[in-house]
Parts: sequence; C-alpha cells; structure tokens
Amino acid sequence: MTTETLLSVKDLKRHFDLGKGSTLKAVDGISFDIKRGETFGLVGESGCGKSTAGRTIMGLYSNTDGSVEYDGVDIHKMSEKERFDYLRNMQMIFQDPYASLNPRSTVFEIIAEPMQVHGLHKDKKSLQARVHQLLEDVGLNRDHANRYPHEFSGGQRQRIGIARALALDPDFIIADEPISALDVSVQAQVVMLLQKLQKEKGLTYLFIAHDLSMVKYISDRIAVMYLGHMVELTTSDRLYENPLHPYTSALLSAIPIPDPDIEEARERVILEGELPSPINPPSGCVFRTRCPHAMAVCAEKVPVWQEQEPGHFVACHLYEQ
Ligand code: SF4
Repeated sequence: MTTETLLSVKDLKRHFDLGKGSTLKAVDGISFDIKRGETFGLVGESGCGKSTAGRTIMGLYSNTDGSVEYDGVDIHKMSEKERFDYLRNMQMIFQDPYASLNPRSTVFEIIAEPMQVHGLHKDKKSLQARVHQLLEDVGLNRDHANRYPHEFSGGQRQRIGIARALALDPDFIIADEPISALDVSVQAQVVMLLQKLQKEKGLTYLFIAHDLSMVKYISDRIAVMYLGHMVELTTSDRLYENPLHPYTSALLSAIPIPDPDIEEARERVILEGELPSPINPPSGCVFRTRCPHAMAVCAEKVPVWQEQEPGHFVACHLYEQ
C-alpha cells in the first residue's frame, strides 16, 4: 500500500425517489479515501447501503450529491469517452457468480468479452493466450475455457468472475460480497486468491461484506455503515482491538470464536429489532432504536463524525465532549 490516494469519496449521497413524496436515502453522505494498493472493507447489514455505495462509486448509479474522484477526476462528471476508458481501470466482482455469468456463453467467451469490447487482443491467438493466462492466474486451467458456467462449483464460478474482472488489467476492483454465497471452506480460498492477485498485480480493492468475520483477514482499513451512514472507520487491527461504536461492537460479537471456553465466557451484544427503513430513518442518531446505550440526546442530535485517535473515526454521542 502507498500513501497515494487512488479513490476519494466525498459526502456521497444516492437517494431514490419512490414517488408520492417518499425518498429512500440508501447512501446519505459518506466520505473516505482509498490508497493505491489498499484493501478497504465496507461492512454493514443487508440494507445498510453498502452495495448501493459500491455501484455509485463504480458509476453504475448516478450520484444524488457529493463526489467520487478516481485519480483526481470526478467520475460522475466524465464524458462518455472518459467513462469508457475509466471503466477499464475499475472492475466489479459480484456476490452471485452464477447470476453474473451468462449461462449460454462458454468460459472463453465470458472472459474474452470485455477485451473484445475494448478492442484488445484482436488477433485470435493473442486473445486465446490471454484467456488461458487469466484462467491460470485464478487457479483454473485452459481446459476449462470451452465449458459452460453450470459445469462449475460455486467457488470455481467465482474464479471465472474474477478472471473476467482482471481481463482489462484494472487497478481497482470493487468486490461486492464476493464470498457470501460460498461455502465457508471455499470462502478462505477465494480470499487467499484475491490477496495473491493483489500482490502480483498491485490491485486496490473495495471489499464489501455484511459481517466482520472474513473482511478482517483481507482489509487494511474498515468502514462500518448503518442505514446509509458511516458510523466508524479505522484500521482492521484497531477495529477488532478497540471498537468504539456500539454497532461495531454488536457486529464483532456476532462472529463465533473457535475456542469453546472463550466463546462460552464472552458477553454477546444482541441487537434488538430490525434495521429501520431508510425511507423514514430515526431522528438524531440513526442507530438509536437498536442501541443499548441510547440517551436522550441521541434522538435530538445527529452525532458528529470525529477522530478519536489518529485515523480512528466514529460518529457517536458517547465520544463527544
Ligand atoms: Fe448509541 Fe447514542 Fe451512540 Fe447512537 S449516538 S450509537 S444511539 S450512544
């Protein structure tokens, strides 16, 4: 990882107009920078806005407000041509590899397509060599090229999705829950593959996950999201050693510990109730309806995003002076 900022997200908002005066505030003002070569984890329960954030950063959704700068250029202000070139550098890996791979295409066609769209490897032999190399890079082999997605296991299909994402030699990959649909035993293999590829190719990752169990092993820093807002951001180590926000503590306490003695002795923070609707979020702190530490002020004032220790940010009245 370098100190050079590759991606800068500033006060990004993505709202959806539902008609009749209703607005769904899926992402409601998030800010962070990602350094070149870094893995940045974005974590929160399903419905917290993290996938919408990923798609808005990728440019698949327009932004309602705020900005996403990639290498200093605002992606939502790019011309068509600039966006086409930019999309070579930024790729996405999806949660459900089966849904994201065309079942009627061979693996060769799936991986070759982005290169054909961008006019790369026009010569057939060169294209074939590139596809074979990509298959080997992700732990598959050239014999797999002529098969169809349904002939593969979930883990292998995710490897095909990764090979496709690597086809244009990108700098930056948004991995949207890339392991959540896989068996636990396969999850670790895919995480190790992503780490290996990062080292070999100098990739930068935005890794989106709904829990903190696996994201810890891959991320340099982690941001926790709740109901469209970021509630905590720090290094992966500090988040586990010293979680500040009550929501982060609850997410951490949901991870099982392999030692049965420690597992039995520890206190769990169980979150009561469902995630409130982002159409009608609670006043003040959006977490207050489920927070075990909620105070009167939490309903009245939005907590301020503050740095509690170098690089460790939190939005919670418990830490305000
Ligand atoms: Fe809980 Fe209040 Fe902190 Fe929100 S601001 S997390 S309700 S203590």
